[in-house]
Amino acid sequence: MPKFVYGFTEGNRDLKDLLGGKGANLAEMTNLGLPVPPGFTITTEACRHYLTAGAFPSGLEDEIDQHLRDLEHAMGRSLGQSDDPLLVSVRSGAKFSMPGMMETVLNIGLNDESVQGLAKQAGGNDRFAWDSYRRLIQMFGKTVLGIDGEHFEEALDELKAECGAKGDLDLTAADFRTLVGTFKDIVREQTGQEFPSDPREQMRLAVLAVFHSWNAPRAVLYRRQERIPADLGTAVNIVAMVFGNLGMESGTGVAFTRDPGSGQQGVYGDYLQNAQGEDVVAGIRNTMPLQELERIDKASYDELMQIMEKLENHYRDLCDIEFTIERGKLWMLQTRVGKRTAAAAFRIATQLVDQGLINLDEAVTRVSGDQLAQLMFPRFDKATDATLITKGMNASPGAAVGRAVFSSDRAEELAARGEAVILVRRETNPDDLGGMIAARGVLTSRGGKTSHAAVVARGMGKTCVCGAEELEVSTKERRFTAPGGVVVEEGDVISIDGSSGAVYLGEVPVVPSPVVEYFEGEGDLDDELVRAVHRLMVHADASRRLAVRANADNAEDAARARRFGAEGIGLCRTEHMFLGDRRQLVEDLILATGDEEREAALSKLEPLQRADYAEIFEAMDGLPVTIRLIDPPLHEFLPDLTELSVKVALAGDAATAKDRTLLECVKRLHEQNPMLGLRGVRLGLVVPGLFAMQVRAIAEAARARAEAGGDARAEIMIPLVGAVQELELVREEAEGILAEIGVDALIGTMIEVPRAALTAGQIAEAAQFFSFGTNDLTQMTWGFSRDDVEASFFSQYLDLGIFGVSPFESLDRDGVGRLVRIAVEEGRKTRPDLKLGICGEHGGDPESVHFCHEAGLDYVSCSPFRIPVARLEAGRAAL
Ligand code: ADP
Ligand code: MG
Ligand code: MG
Repeated sequence: MPKFVYGFTEGNRDLKDLLGGKGANLAEMTNLGLPVPPGFTITTEACRHYLTAGAFPSGLEDEIDQHLRDLEHAMGRSLGQSDDPLLVSVRSGAKFSMPGMMETVLNIGLNDESVQGLAKQAGGNDRFAWDSYRRLIQMFGKTVLGIDGEHFEEALDELKAECGAKGDLDLTAADFRTLVGTFKDIVREQTGQEFPSDPREQMRLAVLAVFHSWNAPRAVLYRRQERIPADLGTAVNIVAMVFGNLGMESGTGVAFTRDPGSGQQGVYGDYLQNAQGEDVVAGIRNTMPLQELERIDKASYDELMQIMEKLENHYRDLCDIEFTIERGKLWMLQTRVGKRTAAAAFRIATQLVDQGLINLDEAVTRVSGDQLAQLMFPRFDKATDATLITKGMNASPGAAVGRAVFSSDRAEELAARGEAVILVRRETNPDDLGGMIAARGVLTSRGGKTSHAAVVARGMGKTCVCGAEELEVSTKERRFTAPGGVVVEEGDVISIDGSSGAVYLGEVPVVPSPVVEYFEGEGDLDDELVRAVHRLMVHADASRRLAVRANADNAEDAARARRFGAEGIGLCRTEHMFLGDRRQLVEDLILATGDEEREAALSKLEPLQRADYAEIFEAMDGLPVTIRLIDPPLHEFLPDLTELSVKVALAGDAATAKDRTLLECVKRLHEQNPMLGLRGVRLGLVVPGLFAMQVRAIAEAARARAEAGGDARAEIMIPLVGAVQELELVREEAEGILAEIGVDALIGTMIEVPRAALTAGQIAEAAQFFSFGTNDLTQMTWGFSRDDVEASFFSQYLDLGIFGVSPFESLDRDGVGRLVRIAVEEGRKTRPDLKLGICGEHGGDPESVHFCHEAGLDYVSCSPFRIPVARLEAGRAAL
């Protein structure tokens, strides 16, 4: 039969699965010889048994009794003994800390008799005893009996009002005694039963309540958010009570072994005299900074400092602790490795290296890509008197200030004059790209965190607040109105905070991120944070196996990506090169009626494309550049069907011949499911000359680079291939052109259609590399329309626990990941030197980077701004 109860001397910190974090660490501290009140832990296994079977496992009651007897023996008094009672706390404690989610009951063992004994124990301190008793009824009533806490709080407030007491310190023994009576009445009224006076029964019920609290709605919700498995269960800790509410020489506090905000070493914490348990955090009275304890009780303070140092050295990390001082005697009630801000995480990791507590390998695993990303955004200066006008969703962090503009053109125009602008739109679409690039930040009144604006902004590292629904945006009148009659006209300055979603009128001062300055090559290595980031990045780079490339479509992005550490381009999209003034040429191409017209249009596009590639090859000289041939459906380059229909209809007979032809063409190209329609390789096969023009432009740009003494390493990537035959046809043509121009380039394909993954063995015959396009692959594997589902039902799916995070954000290992693994294995079987990479949004997502490492890819590719994150995570994955 398994053992269900462990004394504190029997456990240790490695037993978190069984004893929960709190129990394991209480045992660890006990074994370190620290002053922990004695006690024992009921295992998570007992909880799991109870939650499935609805009853204690057999033998559990006996084991509890045995450990209780040992505890009573050690303390020299028995639970609730009327003349000299032992009191205990019953505390929840799961494997993962779930702050405030579950239950704890203090002062178990008090009743009408033992309260007298407790008073005697405390040297005739009646006030303390009755205060402890009313706390028990209050906590027990709330957590075990399920009574709404407000009943008790109201009664307490009423009593205070009656006695004219300002705080709980003004209440007397008699007041608390009255309160005990009132609280018992509340229990009777609310449950129809008496407050249980039998100490052992109190304890049993409290243990049950802790078990049940595992499934309390807020705990369930918290686990879902934090992706904590639902079936772990909680342990229960039974701990002899020590009292911080015995007078002014007693008290309770919380502390950190160093500042969790900045990582600085020193004394951080709060202390409250004459208080118990949660009082410190509950804000009942104002706490004092921990340093003041030195003045009040030097001996305890010194001991606490020693213990904190010991804990840090032992856990080799920042610890947070809970302690209580009972009449000058210090007791440790809890410790764990503490949470910290991103900046503190980097500083602490390197400080610990310098102190010789951990090595660099471990230091790199102690920080995360998410933390690094947080450090890369500029911030608003904390103090601001600017007016908050509304709040939207914090779609892409950072702080941006600029003049409000309502169209992409205007944004580009003002930005070209050196003005900082914020692009304000109801929602954005691909046409706004130029404006988004030009703007300091993007604000929309519609759409969620996965709307176009949000996704694109995050990819670019641009500040974005989206879905600020209170705003009425009028693009036509170039203004928006906010609640309270605030009207912002074009040109008015606003500030948006992408980390909080706040929108301010006027200018809020911004401070740039020193970490980005560092990646840009202008960092200040005297800054402790920058130095810490530098050291950990250097080590991550030295440790990683995955290469990191950039998704970059122009020379500027390519250059930045290179500064950020990119080892090539994994995805250069060519369609962006067809926007703007070139749209007309593309239109001509699409409208071309014969070979001649089409060739004319293509030959006008070719030199423009060649120039685009030349710039990129120059920026990435010596490094691979994967260029994806045109992917989106052609109608994306034509006017909108509805708009054009309306225009032609309104013009009636006056409609131009060109508009009519255009409309006909738009109608002809219209598709119900364009993402599943004529796009990618299908275009290449159906529109003669289109791919050939692109390949020619690439080859000529590469040759020119070589002639200029440079080193262009082109990789031509064919999108949306589902069958090897498609690729073979395109490849044949491309190879012909390459041979004619006399340059070498790899030819490969994206794997983004499930069929491609499933027939990867065949496709690898014709492909020198695969790049997993996990955006489309996710879309097609799940059958989720990427442009629709996130805004429509994903929030419900998240609530229902169908997935913990959108599969578009973090790669779905089980489904999409399986396809990737199949393609890796079968592709390499056909062609052992097949190059493998990923170029979906996932390439910059930490979890997905780890997957790519495990799946054996050669590189990940992500937006320039995410490159440092991917480098760090690739390093962590390898360690
Ligand atoms: P949480 O997990 O929410 O922090 P805890 O189990 O740590 O809950 O308990 C809540 C509070 O009660 C803490 O401040 C803790 O220090 C205090 N406490 C718990 N057990 C005892 C005890 N045996 N003696 C004195 N205070 C205790
Ligand atoms: Mg605690
Ligand atoms: Mg795609």
